[in-house]
Amino acid sequence: EHKIPVSKTDVLIVGAGPAGLMTAYWMARCGVRARVIDKRPTKVFLGKADGLRMRTLEIFDSMGFQHRVMQEGHVAVEANFWVSDKKNNLVREAIMTSKAANKSPHHSMLLTQGRLERFILDTIRQYSDLEVERSTSAETFEYDEALEDDHNAYPITVKVQTVSTEADDLTEKTTNGSEAEHMPSGLDKSKLSPDDWNDFSPQDGILPGKTEIIKARYLIGCDGAHSWTRKQVNIPMEGSSTDHIWGVIDVVPISNFRSYPESRTIQAMTDKGVADIRRLSIVTNTAGTILVIPRERRLVRLYVPVQTIEAVTSGRFDRSTVTLDMIRMSVQNILCPYTFDFEICDWWTVYQVGQRIAPTFIKGNRVFLAGDAVHTHSPKAGLGMNMSMQDGFNIGWKVALVAAGVANPLILSTYNDERHRLAEMLLDFDRHWSGHFTNNTLAPEEASTKAEKMRRIAELFEDFADGARSFYGASPLVWKTEGEAGPPCALSLIPGERFPAAKLRKQADGNVQWTTRLMESDGRFRLVILAGDIRDPTQRGRVESLGRFLQDGNKASAKLEDRYLPTGPFDSLIDVLTIHSSPWRSVEYFDFPESLRSFDPRTGWVYDSIWCDDSCSWDRECDGTGYGQWGVDRVHGAMLIVRPDQYIGWVGELDAVDEMTRYLDGFLMAKNESNNCR
Ligand code: FAD
Repeated sequence: EHKIPVSKTDVLIVGAGPAGLMTAYWMARCGVRARVIDKRPTKVFLGKADGLRMRTLEIFDSMGFQHRVMQEGHVAVEANFWVSDKKNNLVREAIMTSKAANKSPHHSMLLTQGRLERFILDTIRQYSDLEVERSTSAETFEYDEALEDDHNAYPITVKVQTVSTEADDLTEKTTNGSEAEHMPSGLDKSKLSPDDWNDFSPQDGILPGKTEIIKARYLIGCDGAHSWTRKQVNIPMEGSSTDHIWGVIDVVPISNFRSYPESRTIQAMTDKGVADIRRLSIVTNTAGTILVIPRERRLVRLYVPVQTIEAVTSGRFDRSTVTLDMIRMSVQNILCPYTFDFEICDWWTVYQVGQRIAPTFIKGNRVFLAGDAVHTHSPKAGLGMNMSMQDGFNIGWKVALVAAGVANPLILSTYNDERHRLAEMLLDFDRHWSGHFTNNTLAPEEASTKAEKMRRIAELFEDFADGARSFYGASPLVWKTEGEAGPPCALSLIPGERFPAAKLRKQADGNVQWTTRLMESDGRFRLVILAGDIRDPTQRGRVESLGRFLQDGNKASAKLEDRYLPTGPFDSLIDVLTIHSSPWRSVEYFDFPESLRSFDPRTGWVYDSIWCDDSCSWDRECDGTGYGQWGVDRVHGAMLIVRPDQYIGWVGELDAVDEMTRYLDGFLMAKNESNNCR
C-alpha cells in the first residue's frame, strides 16, 4: 500500500480566511515553523465581509499596510437614519457621527475582504517564505492527551488531503450547503486589481487525492462557521441558529436617492447636495429596513430583508428560490419614492445566520479556535471580519512566542479569557442591533421611534464595536492593581486596553509618525518610557538612573536585554521607545542616555528610538496632546510595557523597575533557565 508521508511542524493553521491569515502573519514575523492550509483553491476576490472598524485599522497600521487600505477603501464616519413620514415620504431623521473619528487616526472604512487578504498575504511574503497551501483540506485528527503538558512534544496529528475545486466555480456551497455566493456577471480579470491576477488560477501542480500526515505542537482552527477543527475537539456551538433571511448585493447603483433632504434636524439640513446612496444609511419605512453601505470602485452594498422569521420557521420558505430580481424589487419598494436600479452586480448572496457561540475557544492549551469557527452573528453590525481578525491577532503572537520557546505556555489560556468575553459582548450587541432590521410592518410613527432607538444602540456599543475598549481582565499578561483605571501616574493608560494613539515628532529629524505605526507588530514587547520634561534637573536625573538600569541592570536583576531569550531577527525581546514632553527644539537626541538610543555597530544610532510629544507647525494632527490624553504629568512622566499586540501590560513610575521586571519574569523565559517552564 502507498505510504503516506509524515512531517512535523510547530504550528498548523487550518483555514486562511481573515482569522487564519492574521495568525499566519505572526508566524512569519516571529520566524516560527508553521503550515497554513485552506481547502479553497484561491483566496477570496469579491463579496463577503467589507466593514473595517477603528481598532482593526490600527492593527493594520502596526503591520505596515494601512496606507493601502486608505488608498483603496471608502471612509464612513457618519450614519444616516431615514424614515418615512405620515405622507409616506422618506426623510432623513438623524445623523450619527462616529466618536472614534476623534480618537484615532483611523476611522471606519469599507473595503472588500478579498483586498485585505491580498494585503496580509503580501506582508507575510515580505517576512518569510510561508505560503498558504491551497486546495488542501484537513481530514482526520488525533490528539494524544498524554503529551499535552510537554510543550516540546507533538500531540496533534492531522491528515490532510489535496482536493479539487474549480477556481472559477461561480456558485460556492459551504459545507452544509446553507449559503451560496453568486457572481452573476462572472469573475473575470477585469474586476480584479492587477496584483490579484497571479492568484486568480489555482496553485500549480496540485493534484487531488494527495495525502500527508502533519504532526504539530499547536493547532489553530480558523476554518469558519462550519469549523472542522471545532468538531474534532468536540466543542459545540450554543445559541439560536435561525434568523430572518437576508439578501446582500454588491452593485453599482443607478439611483436618485437623495439630492436634497427634507430633514427635521438642523444638522441634516446643512447637508445639501449629497447623494445618500453614497453614504452609510439605514432606511426604514412600512415596507421594511435596508442598510446602504458605500464601497470602493463605485460599488454599494445593500442588506435587504427577503423573508420574515415566521415564514422561515413555518417551513413555508425555501431560500434557494430567492432571485436577484426579488432583492432588487425589495430595495425599490423601501427606497420609494426614490428610484433604484442597477446593471452591474459584482456579487450577491442570500443568508440566514443565528447568534451562536462556543463555550470555550481552547482545548488543552494546544488547540485554539478563532473567528467564525467559534462565534457567528448577523453581518449587519459589520463586525464578523473585525472580530475574527482580532481573534487571530490575539492568539497568533502568543502561540508564536511560546512555540519559539521565549514565552511561558501559561500565556496561552489568556486567549480564551480575553476573546471569549468580547465574543459574548458581540452577540449581545448583535441581538440588540439586528433585531431592529427585522420588523417589517411598521406604522409611520413607529418607524421614527425605531430610528432613534437604533441611533442610541449604536452610540451605546460604539466603544466596543470600534475596539476603542477591549476590557481584557487581569492575567499574567495584564498587571492590574487599580481596578478599571490606570495608576495615578498615568490615569488613562489602563492595563488591558490598547495604547491610545497619538502623533509624535521624531527627536532626531522632526518627522512625524502615529504611535500605531511606531509600535510595529514585530513580536517584541515594548518598554515605553514617557520621560517627561528632561529640562527639569530632577527629572533628568530620574531618566539617567533608568538609563543606567537599562545599561547595567541592578542588584536584583540583569539588564533586560540579557535577561530574556530573544526571537526573530532581534537581539532582545524588549524594544525600548522613549517619548518625552520637552519642546522639540529645546532638547537634543544626544541629551538622552545612551541605553535609550541604542547603537548598532553597522548602522549607527537608532534614531527612531526617541520621540517628542510636541506640536508641529506643518502637521496639525501632531499637536502635543499625547501626555494629556494618557493622563500623564508632563514633567514627571511614567513608564509602561506594551504587549506585541499594542495592549498595555504594565504601567508604573519611572523608577518602578523591580515591579516591571516581576511582571516580565511572570511569563518570559529567562536566558539562563530556558527550560524552566517546559
Ligand atoms: P472564513 O472567512 O470563513 O475562513 C475560513 C476558511 O477555512 C475558508 O477559507 C475555508 O475554505 C477554510 N476551511 C474550512 N474548513 C476547512 C478544512 N477542513 N480544511 C482546510 N480549510 C478549511 N461578514 C460581514 O461582516 N459582512 C458580510 O456581508 C458578510 N457576508 C458573508 C457572506 C458569506 C457567503 C459568508 C460565508 C460569510 C460572510 N461574512 C460577512 C462573514 C465574514 O466573511 C466572516 O465573519 C469572516 O470571513 C470570518 O473569518 P474567518 O477567517 O473566521 O472565517
